[in-house]
Amino acid sequence: MEALINSLYLISVVLLIVGLRRLSSPATARSGNLVAAGGMGIAILASLITPLEQGDNNYLIILIALVIGTLIGLVMSNRVAMTAMPELVSLFNGLGGACAVAISMIELYQYQSVFAGQEEGVVNLGKHATTQLAMLIGGIAFTGSLIAYGKLAGKIKDWRFSYTGFLNIGLLLIIIGFIAYRLFLPDASFVLPAIILLLALGYGVTFVMPIGGADMPVVISLLNAFTGVAAALAGIIYDNQLMLIGGILVGSSGTILTVLMCNAMNRSLLNVIIGGFGGSVASGRDEGERVVKEASSNDVAIMLRYSSTVVVVPGYGMAVAQAQKVCKELDNLLSVNGVNVYYAIHPVAGRMPGHMNVLLAEADVPYPKLLDLDDANELLKETDVTLVVGANDVVNPAALDDPSSPIYGMPILEILKSKNVIVLKRSMSAGYSGIENPLFFHEKTKMLFGDAKGSIQSLVDEVKQMG
Ligand code: NDP
Repeated sequence: MEALINSLYLISVVLLIVGLRRLSSPATARSGNLVAAGGMGIAILASLITPLEQGDNNYLIILIALVIGTLIGLVMSNRVAMTAMPELVSLFNGLGGACAVAISMIELYQYQSVFAGQEEGVVNLGKHATTQLAMLIGGIAFTGSLIAYGKLAGKIKDWRFSYTGFLNIGLLLIIIGFIAYRLFLPDASFVLPAIILLLALGYGVTFVMPIGGADMPVVISLLNAFTGVAAALAGIIYDNQLMLIGGILVGSSGTILTVLMCNAMNRSLLNVIIGGFGGSVASGRDEGERVVKEASSNDVAIMLRYSSTVVVVPGYGMAVAQAQKVCKELDNLLSVNGVNVYYAIHPVAGRMPGHMNVLLAEADVPYPKLLDLDDANELLKETDVTLVVGANDVVNPAALDDPSSPIYGMPILEILKSKNVIVLKRSMSAGYSGIENPLFFHEKTKMLFGDAKGSIQSLVDEVKQMG
């Protein structure tokens, strides 16, 4: 039986790694997801037969938990709108942290009887430390992810005061002090572990609360890495290699993603955590009299039809409007007429990593048409028209030339290098970060107001009429 369980674990680890590898390209991502899900299915199967080997029989409880979890997962995943996917990811991530907390609390509770001398055995220092760390990191990931969920859903506002950095460092030091005290002077009472848990849950809140809205993608990825580490620690507690490897995979991929996102925003992780970038702030520069130029769909259609190169910049608004398919239709029409159409993808466009790639893949846009930040900025120099579809923060030129702007220094799509800019959005309102965008007042820019799907549909109709 043990050999069978270990073989199943091995197969599932291989499938998880292959799945993760395939997730790195949009072309293989869908199958990668299925492969990884298959790996997880086999892991669950192996865990289900493990009690048989140990002679336990908790199948009724396990079955009830499985059915409840599966139903909740199915209903939530089916109901969630594509634009709310990051919220769901954040919520699921928080539940992973909560699992690590539950596991470590049960273990810590069981250590009590050893400390009280009621049970034979030794709780070695390493295991005790690992269990407390799993509880700490899992607790932070749990409440931190719930706050991140609330912020992404617009239910919780940023909360920051001058000394949040000191508060957080102080809180962390107190928790580490308590953990160390407990390690070297364990007693039979459960009071200290409970206090450590409460402080860890509180730290998750005070850690994420002050972080600015525009930094949420980085934070979610970081919390994801935390959950992975907590799961890996739980794997050590149970001496379960699959949990350990799965946790390491989540922890390391979350860390790599966090670093990549920080690089994409040209910011250090420390700066993200204490910087508070992205509250409701306007540029500090006095812009004087500013004029917004509006275009009609007929003007824009003519510009597009007679261009040589058009670059579409998709943003969160494209996801809200679900404009990807009609955008592909416009692309097809223009391409037939000899216009080269490309898509410039900013790494934090939308509301989750890879959001735009997913949308455009849904509309069957060929991958070679998708350009990353550097390639896009190169091509923009020779672009006739840049069509901004519901993007805002990722094309804000204040990042390049306004040192007083909170986003100064963040790499953006430098669309003002192109000859003309058309912005499709519904109003003059700000993007996710709440920062005003001088692009909309630039002499090269014309605004086409309205829901992106409707606006692009009218462009399609106009181009069709041109024959
Ligand atoms: P933004 O959030 O900056 O701007 C989106 C724009 O879309 C808004 O200005 C809005 O203007 C417009 N819009 C909304 N609905 C529609 C619609 N139906 N039709 C047309 N326009 C619409 O998006 P970006 O993609 O440029 O930037 C992403 C932001 O989100 C960044 O600040 C990033 O840090 C943050 N973020 C990114 C995550 C990620 O992982 N990618 C995760 C979480 C946050 P209007 O209301 O006037 O229409």
